[in-house]
Amino acid sequence: MFTVNAIAAPSASEPLVRTTIERRDLGPHDVLIDIRYAGICHSDIHTVRGDWGSVPYPLTVGHEIVGRITEVGADVTRHTVGDRAGVGCMVNSCRECENCRTGNEQYCLKGNTQTYASVDRDGSVTQGGYSTHVVVNEDFVLRVPETIPYEAAAPMLCAGITTYSPLAHWNAGPGRKVAVVGLGGLGHMAVKIAAAMGAEVT
Ligand SMILES: [Zn+2]
Ligand SMILES: [Zn+2]
Repeated sequence: MFTVNAIAAPSASEPLVRTTIERRDLGPHDVLIDIRYAGICHSDIHTVRGDWGSVPYPLTVGHEIVGRITEVGADVTRHTVGDRAGVGCMVNSCRECENCRTGNEQYCLKGNTQTYASVDRDGSVTQGGYSTHVVVNEDFVLRVPETIPYEAAAPMLCAGITTYSPLAHWNAGPGRKVAVVGLGGLGHMAVKIAAAMGAEVT
């Protein structure tokens, strides 16, 4: 274990405070990410306020994480030191059930491990991206192209994929019309992504 700086909620009703949290030592398939930006998702707010059920405190949230990989475990093959990397809403799953084996880890039959406020497979409680560093299994780390600024990449890790997924599912593109109701964190991403796909966007 090692200690990193973080911002955490002490309880459901207090403001976030500067503090430190523990990260696990790197396992053979883990990477260490030096976090540069973490988006603020409304799920972060719901979670720290306990809107979706009780959570452990102090709690560091943040699941739109981007940064640079500064260390890799001995058996890591997907990433190398110096890569730009991103982490979204999920950091682990059982890897064995039918859904995990078919690339649908978000539907893990034993429950996926969320980036924060989740009990990981080793029994530890996950802590999110409002911190300086995070240790994540390589399979749940995405590559971020050098051409995309960190601050533009971060919101794609939750707001972006949440809107991209249904647009892709319903084949948004030239000749299709898309209407977006509500221009918040997700809505404005939906407009940009649907327009980039070539759809007529209202
Ligand atoms: Zn989110
Ligand atoms: Zn599974």
